[in-house]
Amino acid sequence: MQCNSVFDLPCDTFIRMIVVKVGGSAGIDYDAVCADIAARWAAGEKLILVHGGSGETNRIAEALGHPPKFVTSPSGYTSRFTDRETLEIFEMVYCGKMNKGIVERLQRLGVNAVGLSGLDGRIFEGRHKDSVRAVENGKVKVLRGDHTGTVEKVNTGLIELLLGAGYLPVLTPPASSYEGVAINVDGDRAAAALAVALKADALLLLSNVPGLLRAYPDEASLIPTIPAGDVESYLEFAQDRMKKKVLGAAEAVQGGVRRVIFGDARAGQPVSAALGGAGTVVS
Ligand code: ADP
Repeated sequence: MQCNSVFDLPCDTFIRMIVVKVGGSAGIDYDAVCADIAARWAAGEKLILVHGGSGETNRIAEALGHPPKFVTSPSGYTSRFTDRETLEIFEMVYCGKMNKGIVERLQRLGVNAVGLSGLDGRIFEGRHKDSVRAVENGKVKVLRGDHTGTVEKVNTGLIELLLGAGYLPVLTPPASSYEGVAINVDGDRAAAALAVALKADALLLLSNVPGLLRAYPDEASLIPTIPAGDVESYLEFAQDRMKKKVLGAAEAVQGGVRRVIFGDARAGQPVSAALGGAGTVVS
């Protein structure tokens, strides 16, 4: 009997499907991540890579004279305010420099990678949020003209098509709004939505820290495990952008992903180490 629509293999054939999200902060070793992915891909594992590009986007936005603007919501989440010009710079870096840099690395390693944004084929789709509530000088203000949103739908058909034909998808924000407008979405939460939609075996959120730290930035304070039913109570340890990762992890486990791991992408074999239990394992 055939029961696997993607790989057309019998039910008892164990195939791992792993979604790897690699961040965009300073210190991430993309060569190490790609080499590890290439070795696992060659061994028959199915992987999808999602990446960020925040560090490089900030640098290039400064150089272009349009420095990034970050806003903090009343509930304490930090996000990039994305006006149209920021969105265009964001696309240049995420979909251009970062995405093609990763695809090139994988191609050199013999992996037929295909780089796409969430806008392409509406891989990531969600509602466009035009305004954002932000705390400025202790006051809550409404800022309009924002091109952001949250992924609510994943076009798994296109991903399955690529995987089934032997291509490794390399995905990045932005997503598409329901009206077809490009929207900036959080990469960790997009990867979580993807892992849920694909019923992935694991979601790895790799960054420039060893995992979730109880007393950030003290790396000795790594939290090794988090019970799946209790992820949100660990939000208190996460500051600023780490909060979105914890939120993404909670969404993924609630959606049925059995393991989410916050891992270190700075050296070694980041994917294999995380799957081997290094970092913070949510299960
Ligand atoms: P990336 O762009 O790599 O996905 P982010 O920069 O969005 O990652 O989030 C990771 C960052 O979150 C870390 O570099 C660290 O500075 C920060 N951080 C805040 N609180 C914590 C914590 N409790 N544990 C680990 N990192 C934390």
